[in-house]
Amino acid sequence: MQVHADYALDQRSTLALRARAAAFISATRTEDLLRAVLWSQDSGMPLLPLGEGSNIVFAGDVDAALLQVDIRGRKLLRKREGCAELRIGAGENWHQLVAWTLEQGYYGLENLALIPGTVGAAPIQNIGAYGVELSRFLRRVHAVDLESGAPMVLDAAQCQLGYRDSVFKHRLRDKVAIHAVELALPLSPDPQLRYPALGQYLEQQGIGTPTPVEVFEAVVAIRSARLPDPAREPNAGSFFKNPVVSRAHAEALRADHPELPVFPAAGDSCKLAAAWLIERCGWKGHREHGVGVHPGHALVLVNYGGNDGAVLLALAEAIRESVAERFGVDLEIEPRIYGGDR
Ligand SMILES: Cc1cc2nc3c(=O)[nH]c(=O)nc-3n(C[C@H](O)[C@H](O)[C@H](O)COP(=O)(O)OP(=O)(O)OC[C@H]3O[C@@H](n4cnc5c(N)ncnc54)[C@H](O)[C@@H]3O)c2cc1C
Repeated sequence: MQVHADYALDQRSTLALRARAAAFISATRTEDLLRAVLWSQDSGMPLLPLGEGSNIVFAGDVDAALLQVDIRGRKLLRKREGCAELRIGAGENWHQLVAWTLEQGYYGLENLALIPGTVGAAPIQNIGAYGVELSRFLRRVHAVDLESGAPMVLDAAQCQLGYRDSVFKHRLRDKVAIHAVELALPLSPDPQLRYPALGQYLEQQGIGTPTPVEVFEAVVAIRSARLPDPAREPNAGSFFKNPVVSRAHAEALRADHPELPVFPAAGDSCKLAAAWLIERCGWKGHREHGVGVHPGHALVLVNYGGNDGAVLLALAEAIRESVAERFGVDLEIEPRIYGGDR
């Protein structure tokens, strides 16, 4: 295990923001995590776990050691009750895992194709897309406590997965490094086609009863056409969560704006399309100081070369304020923010 001091982070997040970390450690084995904890105890420098940096904003220099979890491995534990139970190393790339599971005849992850990042980060915000969330398949998370080095195993209920949410954003925020994830994937296909864009795309292709591989290919095609590639236009995907409001609030907004997309959510609440609210406030395509809102996707903020996380966050704040003022809705930033004074 090597500790790199004063480490440039420009290449460590898909937003490619300029910042430095006090230290950087890459862990390729579980033992490395324990060594990193001992080093942290000795040096007094806190550890912050990192995957592929696709859901992170570096708002400035980070006064901590970034601990990149690069532990690999894919293992079939058993087949039971119609499911393949797998244990996957946290450093595995998520999309490559999805493709591999389909090759093995393990189904369910096809709607989650092409989501950037690692397997270990997937439970942090309960990744979701095209009507499916990780929570449907997660069995267990294996982690190490970053203060004591103690091993931890959390079952799905203990992970408290919600919409882009989990215990790792609350009680266990920045407190554990996940080194493996267990999934249970059905051995029989059960395509989930409720998401309108997906159903419409398959219909246009003349595919009535798609196989999981056809769903995977459809998701890849839709995402490739719609979402800006971070390699060319550095971004962190959706910058804001879709806000959840009371049904009464949603109905009041709908009365004034009949075209506002509203989706049913848990209990007596509704989810609104954040992209629509942002676009209506005139932000789509807006640019300032080398950052901006993507012209094709109002939820995506792009680093056009400004490279300054604080400037990007100032733009995000201006967007939040205008949406709050016009619609009375609070937008919540989705990516995790590190550095600066955060
Ligand atoms: C173009 C684009 C499209 C996207 N589309 C989607 C989408 O459709 N749905 C969706 O849900 N997300 C989406 N995202 C967000 C992102 O892909 C996910 O949040 C992903 O899980 C982040 O993985 P990562 O390895 O890059 O994590 P990072 O960005 O490196 O880290 C994210 C958070 O997880 C923590 N973390 C990372 N690894 C570990 C670990 N091993 N143990 C403990 N904590 C850890 C970090 O400390 C940080 O708080 C998109 C992002 C981009 C850039």
